[in-house]
Amino acid sequence: MENAALDLLRTTFGHPEFRGEQAAIIDCVVNGGDALVLMPTGGGKSLCYQLPAMLRKGCGIVVSPLIALMQDQVEALHQLGVRAAFLNSTLDAATAGDIEQRLLAGELDLLYVAPERLLSPRCLNLIDRAHAGPGIALFAIDEAHCVSQWGHDFRREYRELTVLHERWPDIPRIALTATADEPTRREIAERLALEDARQFVSSFDRPNIRYRVAQKDGSGQRALLDFLAGHRGDSGIVYAFSRKRVEKTAEQLQAAGINALPYHAGMPAEVRAANQRRFLQEDGVVMVATIAFGMGIDKPDVRFVAHVDLPKSIEGYYQETGRAGRDGEPAEAWLNYGLGDVVNLRMLINQGEASDERKRLELRKLDALLGYCESTRCRRQALLGWFAESHPGNCGNCDNCLNPPESWDGTEVARKALSCVYRTGQRFGAGHVIDVLRGTPTDRVVQFGHDKLSTWAIGDNLDARQWSSVFRQLVAAGLLEADHERHGAFRLTSDAGPVLRGERQLHFRRDAPKPANTRKRNGS
Ligand code: ADP
Ligand code: ZN
Repeated sequence: MENAALDLLRTTFGHPEFRGEQAAIIDCVVNGGDALVLMPTGGGKSLCYQLPAMLRKGCGIVVSPLIALMQDQVEALHQLGVRAAFLNSTLDAATAGDIEQRLLAGELDLLYVAPERLLSPRCLNLIDRAHAGPGIALFAIDEAHCVSQWGHDFRREYRELTVLHERWPDIPRIALTATADEPTRREIAERLALEDARQFVSSFDRPNIRYRVAQKDGSGQRALLDFLAGHRGDSGIVYAFSRKRVEKTAEQLQAAGINALPYHAGMPAEVRAANQRRFLQEDGVVMVATIAFGMGIDKPDVRFVAHVDLPKSIEGYYQETGRAGRDGEPAEAWLNYGLGDVVNLRMLINQGEASDERKRLELRKLDALLGYCESTRCRRQALLGWFAESHPGNCGNCDNCLNPPESWDGTEVARKALSCVYRTGQRFGAGHVIDVLRGTPTDRVVQFGHDKLSTWAIGDNLDARQWSSVFRQLVAAGLLEADHERHGAFRLTSDAGPVLRGERQLHFRRDAPKPANTRKRNGS
């Protein structure tokens, strides 16, 4: 069997050798076993079901959540001479009927189906007939993390895919995903009844991607332009938080002479498709997009992925950055974030409609990401650690490895900041509290009598920017939280107590440099 697979790999797909775990996975499925495959984006998941589908009797049914993705895959297979088709809502009845006939006549190796379509009585019945006739080679469940309620791509229909196992227990199933933190992994196995499947966990390391995190000043536009100056003529993706941010950023980049295009779910489908096509076909297009863009985009020479706003979780971040450098050549993942992002995302989660349990989980995920951003250790170690993979030593290809950040004892500065938040009544955001700390007599400061507080002007050894960094790190460390009912006013958390009482030391990253003069000016 293995030789047949290798032959097919070489003759049909034109690749000389299998990569990573591909051979083992294919062997497992060809022999009728179930498999759960965790492989990073670009790792080569498709072949893991395409080859077994071609080698086993009958047609392989591939469940895929994205219509655009299906069409691309089927087109690519046609070019290789593979007999593939898809069934989804874009087809008219006659074309769909024709494809059904081809399935029943044994004329297909691969059939891609949208999950809601697959679950329809008509389609289940069709598979029954194919099963009894030319045969069903396997079921492949692509983007299997869509079954996870906690993930960012939850699809209700994925929950019902257990029907495949119940109805056709003898047909092997292979579930694939690039999202592989331990809880999601467990949930996939559970929800898809794949507890007994063999798990194939590939290394998630992408050694050619250089990770960098930068702190945002204002909107971050200047920093983005500086970053892009190092990538002139490169193809890349810039992820932004909202549709509005996407449009604005794309305009700014265009104005700066960069070949940028916008992409978000609110744009007309034709424009979106046209922009996607240009990104794939032309050189040097910078796609400015929400996370609606990217799943299944197979462009090998994406040289950078930039996040101009904070993503929501490490998994999401890793998946998005994984779209860079699939060709193995050097690529960069650059993340720019600021205090405003943290406050906004926290507010958005808190104000959302989700259950309290889900909110807590989302906040924890955000905290993990913040921890990553503020960390002084190797970024790669931190990321892979999140996926339960250890990385030996420092990677030498991330900002923290290349320019080790200094950390400094920020305990005293943190105490000043926290006590100033407390003294001003926990009713103000960073701007005002910093004015009080620095002794800037604004109208508001005077109006509230904050120039009379014991914390007035105790922090003029740091400039506003350094204070802003301190507040960001305090929020990231969970010592302060933004009160969303009071326009982001800071409130102390219960964890702030030990710091205020001098029972806990804090260390800050270099970008809030150690103040020149740490002597207290007033009593505090
Ligand atoms: P994934 O679905 O895991 O993101 P794909 O299946 O789209 O990845 O594969 C990513 C790229 O790697 C594709 O361009 C594919 O042709 C290529 N590829 C896959 N397997 C091999 C292999 N064994 N040798 C060389 N290239 C491969
Ligand atoms: Zn590193």
